[in-house]
Amino acid sequence: MPKLSDRVESFTDSVIRRMTRISDEYGAINLSQGFPDFDPPKELLDALAKAAYAGPHQYSITFGAQNLREALAGKISKTLGRAVDPDTELCVTCGSTEAMMAAMMTICNPGDKVMVFSPFYENYGADAILSGAEPIYIPLVPPEYGFDLQLIENGFRQGAKAIILCNPSNPCGKVFTREELTAIGALALQYDAFVVTDEVYEHMVYAPNVHTAMASLPGMFDHTLTCNSLSKTFSITGWRLGYVCGPAWAIEGAKKVHDFLTVGAAAPLQEAAVAGLGLPETYYEELLKTYTQKRNYFLEGLDRIGLKHNVPQGTYFVMLDIEAFLELPRFSGFTDLEFCEWMIKSIGVAAVPGSSFFREPVNHLIRLHFARQQSTLEEALRRLEKMAAMLTSVQ
Ligand code: GLN
Repeated sequence: MPKLSDRVESFTDSVIRRMTRISDEYGAINLSQGFPDFDPPKELLDALAKAAYAGPHQYSITFGAQNLREALAGKISKTLGRAVDPDTELCVTCGSTEAMMAAMMTICNPGDKVMVFSPFYENYGADAILSGAEPIYIPLVPPEYGFDLQLIENGFRQGAKAIILCNPSNPCGKVFTREELTAIGALALQYDAFVVTDEVYEHMVYAPNVHTAMASLPGMFDHTLTCNSLSKTFSITGWRLGYVCGPAWAIEGAKKVHDFLTVGAAAPLQEAAVAGLGLPETYYEELLKTYTQKRNYFLEGLDRIGLKHNVPQGTYFVMLDIEAFLELPRFSGFTDLEFCEWMIKSIGVAAVPGSSFFREPVNHLIRLHFARQQSTLEEALRRLEKMAAMLTSVQ
């Protein structure tokens, strides 16, 4: 048989998305891959129905339909406190997944070093391999997920071209403070490097935490490629709409990469998404209220049934500590992946093994998400309660 590339041999499929397939196979409640089980706002659905007949059905401009870019630029300009040019500083992509890949391919030569926090959203590992970059991992240390700035300075000293920053952070829910971002940004400026951000959970930041966009800090717009999407903000993960925003000279490169990777995002969906960006500010407030309620309900539920977890400052993810289970004879020698497979089959709840996010050998954490309707979360907690009972019944 002819040989495949070394590239594809060097990483596995996404464990997050694999867990969804296993969950579907066993009919479990899927709290693994993060996506909502509720509908997008009606305004988007109406606009989508309209686009079905009125079009567009042919390619949009490769870097995004004019009206979508203008609407996005309006929203981003408010976030950054700076006018963003929809023609030169923005490129619409197929989800933030493509935005990140395009950003990495725009700035990295094979062999370039790039800093990645650990735990990290698993795509970044594959992004590094596909773009030829060599990751330098910077630990975010549980349970607070703090980091050592000195390690970041060391990375830049070793010539790192960029640092990838997921804020709010998947999977650990960390929201980087303005001070932390300022310190990282100052190093990027000092060493003339890039910050590539993934800010898809920008609207899921729980009080008293606040979201600060790296590109909004003084001097940082020219050093930041901001990747983001409409997936989480408008509950349209399947529409695959994202964007990368940054200085014109860098976006010019990203537009070329994007053009040859995918040509463009789906035209009728871009048209329909414009309706979402036209929603008033109260939409984002309501969204946050909804997720705050879900977070509180789910975390209180976990406390009540006695499952140990972190308290996410942002995102819709929570890390569960399964150490106590792994100490039971029943799970002796289990990996976190095996535990998650057992959970799907025996408990009926799907989670993602923490090891798929950590560079370090971590086996005692699993990730759940709470982007689910109230009734689904109630049922998930009922099932998890049965699991929690194992901890008390065997003693
Ligand atoms: N960001 C989501 C997660 O971590 C999933 C995104 C995806 O699968 N493309 O679960």
